[in-house]
Amino acid sequence: MRTPLIAGNWKMNGSAALINDFGSAFADVSLPAALDVVLIPPFPYLDAARQAFRNTPLTLGAQTLNPVESGAHTGEVSGRMLKEFEVSYVLVGHSERRELYRESDEQVFDRLLAALDNGLTPILCVGESLAERDAEKTMDVVLRQVGYAMTRLAPEQRQAVVIAYEPVWAIGTGRTATPEQAQDVMAGIRAYLAEFSTAFAEQMRLLYGGSMNAKNAAELLAQPDIDGGLVGGASLKTDDFYAICQSA
Ligand code: PGA
Repeated sequence: MRTPLIAGNWKMNGSAALINDFGSAFADVSLPAALDVVLIPPFPYLDAARQAFRNTPLTLGAQTLNPVESGAHTGEVSGRMLKEFEVSYVLVGHSERRELYRESDEQVFDRLLAALDNGLTPILCVGESLAERDAEKTMDVVLRQVGYAMTRLAPEQRQAVVIAYEPVWAIGTGRTATPEQAQDVMAGIRAYLAEFSTAFAEQMRLLYGGSMNAKNAAELLAQPDIDGGLVGGASLKTDDFYAICQSA
């Protein structure tokens, strides 16, 4: 069975004080036993988070990484550096990176490989824009993004990936995909993965992201192909994030 995973993506939000609030709020909480919870703050907070989350079930993720290990790349952070701060997960291909920083499928793949090479679990984000959905290109876009990576990885590398389906039109808009819309696409992703092997498809964790909140999480997470959530806005409030974890 797949262990559910709830990941909170703070994006360029939060503060050192909020890290401490999460450390306190999640100390000694009782969460479902089989649940992975990841908080993904901006880089400068990773070390404080590592310390503040010691007595909590929260593990650490990063929002991106550079494919290169070290060198003349001003402003960038490598997988090796993240590993030094006990980071376990890293987002690759978030739609904001694809859109605002023009990351191509190839560049996303290079980051994903660097994550794997450094023992980090990549969360590969995929999803269609509203125009692509309206043009009925959702599955083409999503499977192109998933396929670019999956066809280039060895079987044991593929198994180490988590995929997050995040329809771009649902991110930060308050307009969540309906559970049926999300389930349809995610079942399509799993069917595609089954072409590699059914056992592989069955173990792959698929997260939904896009305006997930304390109210809609349970219904989304009840869908058979939704194994967790990638939560943006609602991961900035301890109560909301805790409630979403409880729904998993
Ligand atoms: P949102 O963001 O929950 O604020 O829509 C999700 C994401 O971008 O990962």
